[in-house]
Amino acid sequence: MQVFPIFLPHHGCPHRCCFCDQRRTTQQFCAFEHDRIESDLADMIPEEGPGEGEIAFYGGTFTLLPPGEQKALLELALGYVNRGLVRGVRVSTRPDALEDCQVEFLVRHGVTTVEIGAQSFDDRVLNAAGRGHDAASTLDAIERLRKNGMKIGLQLMPGLPGSSFDEALFSLRTAFEARPDFLRIYPTVVFPGTELESLWRRGLYRPWSLNEAVDICADMLKECRRQSMPVIRLGLQQVDALERGGVAAGPHHPAFGQLVRSRLWYGALMSLLSPLQNGTKPFRVRVSRADLGDILGHRRTNIEKLRSLVPGLVFEISDDLRREHLAVENRLFHLDSLLQQTPREERHESIFG
Ligand code: SF4
Repeated sequence: MQVFPIFLPHHGCPHRCCFCDQRRTTQQFCAFEHDRIESDLADMIPEEGPGEGEIAFYGGTFTLLPPGEQKALLELALGYVNRGLVRGVRVSTRPDALEDCQVEFLVRHGVTTVEIGAQSFDDRVLNAAGRGHDAASTLDAIERLRKNGMKIGLQLMPGLPGSSFDEALFSLRTAFEARPDFLRIYPTVVFPGTELESLWRRGLYRPWSLNEAVDICADMLKECRRQSMPVIRLGLQQVDALERGGVAAGPHHPAFGQLVRSRLWYGALMSLLSPLQNGTKPFRVRVSRADLGDILGHRRTNIEKLRSLVPGLVFEISDDLRREHLAVENRLFHLDSLLQQTPREERHESIFG
């Protein structure tokens, strides 16, 4: 699904979550820029329909914008829907800003998808992050949206103060029970100027290392695959991090999603290769072109590590292989079936130095 994003950084938000750089960025984006949004949409959306995409209002708490601003933005977007140039409209917001009247307003104005910043389903973690809502309010909001026929996305932030690997998996499993349509997973990073930065500088918060974040996100992604739960984003986009003035600490990496997918492939390949350890005969594994980058790993980390175990290992691109499949001689393997054979210890072996 193509998304045409309009960013409204922190518009509408009355909160101060400890990880959010709201005060600094609101100084930069204080005006409601309807004209700029109108021209951005006109530039982004092709005039020839029918369009399958969605216009998305991201970055603030949409449902806490003044009703007149919400209405103006949604009417602008609906114009594109009515002309058949996009299929729907999505907004992002907080769970406690989705009361019945707010959801009804969205429905009446053509919103089809709502992304909720859930962050965690552990009340201690939500409290420590200063979120100002509990896990139950996220579950209630999901229920209200579902009753109104909305598509639902959830954002999770493993690694907040008070979080742990277990908490991240608990929150993920609670999210599965709530049955959203898709997830975004953003491991917590420390932005300059936030309360989290102050906690970190005073030694009261330890961000996850890149290794830790990749490991836990690989476990989370594996669970999502098992549940057929789409994950539409893993880690911040580089542009988000740069627009916020860089990252002070924490597991930000411009190719975070690839690190996580490569971590999964490493585990899968270990289960395929471990019976061959130290074999020097050539061992050819055919892979699809689309998977090659993830299989080799960022800066070829996977291949170097795997070749130290199986020196004769060679990957060959095979254009007749479907994505996420491997072939060895006449045998075909799928990533998920290999992952099911991977013991947890192997997946947690650190490969990123
Ligand atoms: S609710 Fe969202 S926009 Fe508001 S302070 Fe928290 S993270 Fe930032």
